[in-house]
Parts: sequence; C-alpha cells; structure tokens
Amino acid sequence: MQRLANFIGGAFVPPASGSYLEDVGPATGEVIAEIPDSDARDVDAAVAAARAAFPVWSRTPTEQRSRLLLRLADLIEQNLEELVQMESRDNGKSVSLARRLDIPRAVLNFRFFATAILHQASEAHVTDATALNYTLRQPLGVAGLISPWNLPLYLLSWKIAPAIASGNTCVAKPSELTPLTANRLAELSLEAGIPAGVINIVHGLGGKAGAALTKHPNVPLISFTGGTVTGASVAANAAPLFKKLSLELGGKNPNLIFADADLDDAVATSLRSSFWNQGEICLCGSRIFVERSAYDAFLERFIAATKQLRIGDPSEETTDIGALVSEAHMQKVLGYIELAKEEGGTVATGGNRVDRPGFFVEPTIITGLGCDRRVLQEEIFGPVVTVTPFDSEDEAIAFANSTRYGLSATVWTRDLQRAHRVAAALDSGTIWINTWLLRDLRVPFGGMKESGVGREGGMHSLEFFTEAKNVCVKL
Ligand code: NAD
Repeated sequence: MQRLANFIGGAFVPPASGSYLEDVGPATGEVIAEIPDSDARDVDAAVAAARAAFPVWSRTPTEQRSRLLLRLADLIEQNLEELVQMESRDNGKSVSLARRLDIPRAVLNFRFFATAILHQASEAHVTDATALNYTLRQPLGVAGLISPWNLPLYLLSWKIAPAIASGNTCVAKPSELTPLTANRLAELSLEAGIPAGVINIVHGLGGKAGAALTKHPNVPLISFTGGTVTGASVAANAAPLFKKLSLELGGKNPNLIFADADLDDAVATSLRSSFWNQGEICLCGSRIFVERSAYDAFLERFIAATKQLRIGDPSEETTDIGALVSEAHMQKVLGYIELAKEEGGTVATGGNRVDRPGFFVEPTIITGLGCDRRVLQEEIFGPVVTVTPFDSEDEAIAFANSTRYGLSATVWTRDLQRAHRVAAALDSGTIWINTWLLRDLRVPFGGMKESGVGREGGMHSLEFFTEAKNVCVKL
C-alpha cells in the first residue's frame, strides 16, 4: 500500500510523530493509502523551508517563474490520465468528470497564472506638480494554503498557482480525505524544476496540521477553501496575527426557474448543477425554485431525467454518479434526507443508500418544504435538492436570499430585463443567467454573507497574494 510523505524543502519526509492516517477509497470502503498525521513540528519545518526559499524565488525574474509554471502545467497534462484515475479513486467521483473538469482545470490554473503575471500592470498617480506616486506590488513571504476534498487538485492548484506565480513560497495542507493528487503534484513540481522549498505540502488533519499553519507567526497570508464553520476557526486563529485572509466557504445556492425559460435547457443544466460530483461542488444549486405555472412541467421532466442517471463504479466510463467522499459524509447526507421527511417533505425520487460496498447515495429530489426548513437552510453538500414553487419575481428573490449563505445563484429566464434586475437583487458572489459553472478565470470569485470573505480569480488572486505599497516621490 502506498504510504505518503510530506514534501518539505524539495524532499519527501516522514511526519515527526511517525504516525499515519488511513486514506479510504469511497467506492470500496477500503484503505488505499496511508498519509502523514502531521503536527506543528512538520508545519514548522515546512514553513522554515518555504522561508529559506523565499528570497531567491521572490527575486527570480517573472518570465522564469512563468516558464516553470508552464512546465508544471504541461507535466500535469502529460500525466492527465494517471491523475484522473487517482482523483477518482481517492474522491469517489466518476472518471469522466475528473477528466472533463478537475484535472484539465488544474492545468488551466497553472497556465492562467503563469501568463497572467506577464501582463500585470501597476498604477501611478501624479499629484499635480508636487509628487509622483506609484504602486509597488510585492509578494509577502510564505502563503498558507488549505483546500477541501471535493475538487482536490483543481482547488489546490487554484491557490498554489497564483501564490507562487506572484513570488511567494507556500505551505499547502490538502484535505486529509483526498491527498493523492497533491502528492503527485509535488513529484511533478520537482520534475518541472520548481526550486526546493517553493512548494511544500504537509498532509494531515485540519484541527492539527491545518490549525498549526493558520496560527504560524511566519505565515502572513492564508487562503482557505472549506466549510463555513471551519472558516470561522481559521479566521479566529489568523486574526490575532492580522494575517491577510481569503475565505471561500460553503453555499446553499438557489436555482431560479421562471416560466418563460427554455425548459429543455433548464432541466438538462439543473441536472448537472444538482448532481455533478454527487452534489459535492460548492457551486451546486441545491435549492431549486420554479415559477408556479411551470412547476409541474419542470418537476416531471427533472424527476424523469434524474432517474436516468447511472450510479455506480466511478472508474467506469459510463458512470454519472460515483460515491460520496466518506462514510461520515454519507451518513450526514442520509441524515438530511431523514430530516426532510420529518420536516414534512416528500421524497420525489431517490432517498436511499445504494446497496453496494462504498458510500453511494441515490440522487434525491425533495418537494413540499418551505424556505424556513433546515433542509433549505443548511448546506448538505450531497446529491440532494429541493424543488419549491414561487408566485412572483419578488418572492423568488426573497426565497433565494433567505439563507445565511451567498456563494452563487442561477437564473433561468428569456426576459433580459428581468435577468439583470434579479441578478442585481441576489446576495450571491456569482450569478449565472441561463447557464451554470461557466467560468472565466479572470472574473472575481467568492461569496457574500457566510460564504466567504475576499475574492480570488484573475487579478484578484494576484492582488491577494501581493502587498500593494505606495511609493511617493516628491517632485
Ligand atoms: P472542511 O472545512 O472540513 O475542510 C477544508 C480543509 O480545512 C481541509 O483541508 C481540512 O483538513 C482543513 N481544516 C479542518 N479544520 C481546520 C482547522 N481547524 N484549521 C485549519 N484547517 C482546518 O471542508 P471540507 O469538508 O473539506 O469541504 C467541503 C466544504 O468546502 C463545503 O462546505 C463546501 O461548500 C466548501 N467549499 C467551498 C468552495 C468555495 O470556493 N467557496 C469550494 C469548494 C468547497
């Protein structure tokens, strides 16, 4: 069985404790690897290696940093199929989705930031004839990067790429549930020629290795993606040290379908936005609201389409729905299905664990629940969606905004004015009109309310990972 090591200063090293955690394959329930149960000592060593690498890396010419990141992108692409299989085995997602979404996006992330830094501009402000001000953007030092399990390499690379492209070095703590592709990335970074200490990876538990990173005095910035409760703890640890902080947190995203929408497209896309990656994408639209006059037609077609989804072995090409990431997560999702029934909801389709080894839950549609029910308020993060009718545009907006989250929303309408009006009224960091998950890496990405603080994406990431200094020269 594979036993992973931490990646510190360009070398693979065992954890100081000598202890390991089990990495369970969600499709079988069997242990597929062991990973370091790292603690503050490992984080200290990784931060020291990153600090040692910073002076040279931060002064490495932009063009050279760019070339190294492009080489890493090429290597990920060349090893795409291996990474696809690895991600599927570790996370439970179907190979077809990992091939379509996760791994290509990791390639794009490195390419995007490798080239973005070549075009980064800075401002100058001339104060009449008195002074010239210019903005100097500089890396901060060691970036602490903490990522979740749902899109393991995609989200890790979304942080590592801008962090090191900007001239920082980093210590990354991937999710303990899905460590395999992060480990492979470490190997590929060596092959790409990225200098020792620029990327360091410490595996282990969030409350131990992750918390040590957020509290570390020599880590001036933290980029965290994960749950809202964890985000609060990360913020509390980082606050006394006044760290620069980006928090990308949970969601309970609304999907608003007006009666004038293209129903074929709305049904087909809602199928993806509900059940892709078993509903384990922070941007999934887990609350569907349909204008009453289209409600029955939508529901009937949506249920029929959901029943066609193929659940099964994620390594098979024809599988649509793979396994949930862990037994604990599956129990949480099943618990919410029970809660939906207790709250008076009707399970229109699905609702059960699949009778096979591993952690499989049927794609599930629940009707009959109002917005105040816990099932419509709390993030489930699984293949469970609610469908609720609305009677007016105002009601649709009120329903959409009725949670503490504000990550993304989708609006289906052919009425252009309504589309813009509703988009402006929604408490969401991203609003898709007649589409879902269409991403341009230059646009701001992040949540409102309890879905997060700060924006990543394009120049927003490059700004986050640098400090803007004002240099004022008297003329
Ligand atoms: P999580 O919060 O449990 O864990 C995320 C990461 O934080 C893991 O690496 C974990 O080990 C670490 N961690 C846990 N406790 C920690 C602590 N006290 N200090 C520091 N690090 C700690 O989240 P998860 O279950 O891995 O991921 C699912 C969540 O992530 C969902 O809520 C989902 O919506 C959210 N998510 C958000 C986005 C976004 O962009 N907004 C993207 C993907 C996932």
